Amino acid sequence: MISLDPPAMATRDGETTTSTIGQSSNPADYLDIGSISDMSLRPIAEKIAGGKRLDFADGMALWNSRDIFAVGHIANAVREAMHGRVAYYNINRHINYSNICALSCKFCEFQRKRGEEGAYEYDLEKVYQIAAEADKIGATEIHIVGGLHPWLPFEWYLEMLSGLRARFPRLHLKCFTAIEIDHFTKISKLSVREVLIALREHGLGSMPGGGAEVFDDRVHDEVFKGKLRSDGWLNVHKVAHELGIATNATILYGHVETRAERVNHLIKLRELQDAAPGFQTIIPLSFIPDGSELGHLPGNTGLEDMKMLAISRLMLPNFPHVKAFWIMQSMKLSQVSLNFGVDDLDGTVVWYDITKREGGHGNQHQEQDVADIRRLVVEAGYIPVERDTLYRRVIRNGQDWHVA
Ligand code: SF4
Repeated sequence: MISLDPPAMATRDGETTTSTIGQSSNPADYLDIGSISDMSLRPIAEKIAGGKRLDFADGMALWNSRDIFAVGHIANAVREAMHGRVAYYNINRHINYSNICALSCKFCEFQRKRGEEGAYEYDLEKVYQIAAEADKIGATEIHIVGGLHPWLPFEWYLEMLSGLRARFPRLHLKCFTAIEIDHFTKISKLSVREVLIALREHGLGSMPGGGAEVFDDRVHDEVFKGKLRSDGWLNVHKVAHELGIATNATILYGHVETRAERVNHLIKLRELQDAAPGFQTIIPLSFIPDGSELGHLPGNTGLEDMKMLAISRLMLPNFPHVKAFWIMQSMKLSQVSLNFGVDDLDGTVVWYDITKREGGHGNQHQEQDVADIRRLVVEAGYIPVERDTLYRRVIRNGQDWHVA
C-alpha cells in the first residue's frame, strides 16, 4: 500500500479532528477504474490502487494522455486518501531582500545588476519593518529569498535571522534556496553542513524549495548556466534533511525542457526523499515568460498546469503535500487544481517580486485575502484549514493564533 500521511480530518466548518473514522487511506477506495476511457491510463490506475509506484513510462503515459479528467481523477484518489477533503493554506509574508544577483538565468525577470534601473536591496531595518507588519496582522511565517548578492557578507544573513528571531519569536523563518546556501558556502568558506548549522543557530526554521528548476544538464546549460547543478541542489537538501531541517521542492516547467525531463526531475526528488526524508511539499512552478530573456516562449496552458500538478502527485507518493502556488498558476486554476491532486494553496504572500504575471512592469503587491482563499476552497467542495509552515493546524482568533 502507498505510504501515506495520517489524514487530517476536518468538519465542514473547518474544525479539524484527529479522528480517521470514515476516512479511507486507500486510494483504491476513491478510484473508479471502469470510468477511465483512456485505456493507457487503466494500468496506471491499477498500480495506484495496488499501492505500487509509477515508473518513467507511466509518467510519460500520463503526459501523453488526452484524458485530462482521468489524469485528475487518479491523482485525486491519492490526494483524498492522504488528506481527505482538507485544503491547506497559511498566512505568510514574502520578503525578497534584494534583486541584485551575480548570475543571469535566462528565465529570470527578477534579477538586476548593481546600478541597473530597478536594482534594490533592503537594509536590516526594512526587513524588520516588513516582518513587524506581518507579525502584527497575525502571520505565522516569513518566507525570505533573494538574488545571489555579490558583496553582502555571510554575517549579514546571520544578523538578519537573529534580529528577526529576537524581535518576532512567533514567526517561523523559512529562508534561502539551495542556490543561496551554495552561495553562502563560497562567501563564508564553510561547508554546506556548517552553513546550515550556523543559519539554524541564528533562527532558520526551514527552507523553501526554489532554485531546482529542471534537473537536467542540457536544460541547465541552455537556461541557467553558472547556477548550482542538480547534484548540488539535491545535496543541499539532503544535508538539510540529515540535520532535521524540513524543506520543500520545486520544478520550474514550461520553458525549454521536455516532458521526459520533467518526469526524470520528479523521480530524482522521489529518490532523495527515500534516501533522506525531509521534503514536505512539491511546488510545481509554472514558468511565466513575460519580461524574461525567454519572453518569446508561449508559457503554459491551463491543461498543462493541471497535468503538471496531477503528475507530481502521482509520481511523488512519498511527498506529503502538493502545492499550487497561485502566483504562478493563478487563483482560479489553483481552485480547480484541488480536484487534480493539490492539497495546499500556499498563502496570503502579500508582496512578491520574483514573478509578476505581467512581467517587469507587473505589480509587486500580490496579496490574497484569507476570506477569499477560504471561499474558493469551500466552493470547490473542500474544507479550508489554516496550517503553519510545518503543516500543523493553526487555531486562530483574529491576529492571535497558536498551533493545535
Ligand atoms: S533565478 Fe536566482 S540565481 Fe538566477 S538570476 Fe534570478 S535571482 Fe539570480
